[in-house]
Amino acid sequence: MSSHVHGPGCGHDHDHDHGHAHGPGCDHDHGHHAHHEHADHAHGAGCGHRAIQHGDHTDYLHDGHLHHPHDGHVDDHSLEVGGSNPAACTPDHACGAHEDNHTHGAGCGHDAVPHGDHTDYLVFGHLHHPHGAHCDDHGPVVVR
Ligand SMILES: [Zn+2]
Ligand SMILES: [Zn+2]
Ligand SMILES: [Zn+2]
Ligand SMILES: [Zn+2]
Ligand SMILES: [Zn+2]
Ligand SMILES: [Zn+2]
Ligand SMILES: [Zn+2]
Ligand SMILES: [Zn+2]
Repeated sequence: MSSHVHGPGCGHDHDHDHGHAHGPGCDHDHGHHAHHEHADHAHGAGCGHRAIQHGDHTDYLHDGHLHHPHDGHVDDHSLEVGGSNPAACTPDHACGAHEDNHTHGAGCGHDAVPHGDHTDYLVFGHLHHPHGAHCDDHGPVVVR
């Protein structure tokens, strides 16, 4: 890797194997901090990940993480416990959003959401926390 930045008038022959010509907006990661599995992905409208409201900004649910694109890198966020998202046990919660015997986990069809020190699942606009034979209701999430 050379530190040279190609550009108009740089005098280089661009026949070598770049595959394309670099330029403004080509969105290559030119060597700065790369988050896991983020080499070629920029979160944004229509990126394919579910976007949720977190405080005054938008985050993206990505492989069980809450990702916040920030200044060329990605921050890992977690929803705060408290307010409208308590980490309480609600044994009587029975919203009927899924079968009683549904087991939340990787690939269960619900997006995993980091909440405090645990992981919840996004079910019809609120957080389900698997707890024994029931799901706790950890409050609403605004899906964008
Ligand atoms: Zn994305
Ligand atoms: Zn956030
Ligand atoms: Zn991400
Ligand atoms: Zn519970
Ligand atoms: Zn529910
Ligand atoms: Zn599930
Ligand atoms: Zn929770
Ligand atoms: Zn559930």
